[in-house]
Amino acid sequence: VTYTFTRPTLTFCDVDGVLAEFAFAFSRLLHLEFGTPITYTREVSDWAWDKQGITKEQFAWGFERIETIPDFWLQCPTLATPEQFKRIADAASRLPILFVTARAPSAGDSVYHQTVRWLEMQGIAEPLVIVSKRGGMGGGTDKADLIEHFNPGLVIEDAPHTAVAFARRGVPVALMDWPYTSTDDVWAHSGYIKLCNLDQALDMAGA
Ligand SMILES: [Mg+2]
Repeated sequence: VTYTFTRPTLTFCDVDGVLAEFAFAFSRLLHLEFGTPITYTREVSDWAWDKQGITKEQFAWGFERIETIPDFWLQCPTLATPEQFKRIADAASRLPILFVTARAPSAGDSVYHQTVRWLEMQGIAEPLVIVSKRGGMGGGTDKADLIEHFNPGLVIEDAPHTAVAFARRGVPVALMDWPYTSTDDVWAHSGYIKLCNLDQALDMAGA
């Protein structure tokens, strides 16, 4: 008797810039303090906020402010549509999906618990969440180091440098096609990185 085991692809799914509207939530904080423009994810032109008229000091202030706001991440608005969350919820019950985030600390509950609760609020029951160690404050993350312990077949991301870090290690990436994601470095790794929207990424994940 020959047994054939086929395992579904493990997918890493990022949260901010993929499922959650972080750019709005963050730029709104800065707007209330400095009068700078409110920017939605679809309007962000460059990953580096200082290329959009936000100073390094304002940027740093934003993350200091987040540290004082109870459950900032729990209050973050959605970016994905209700239909897309339904699709993810259905898929997460039969496919291994890890929600991987490098969110910075806020007051209140831990980033892990806020993110679990937020995903549950979007209808995703008992989500598997990993908070990668280096806090995501617009810089690099250590998300790609997780492949020492996990073997993702697909990564859904919006951070161009994180996408490249996975691609360099041979992991395919569905990179959200926002104005800030199409960098030269991304194009240089186009064998592993596909610029697409969330529905196309979920197709790739088999969701
Ligand atoms: Mg992100």
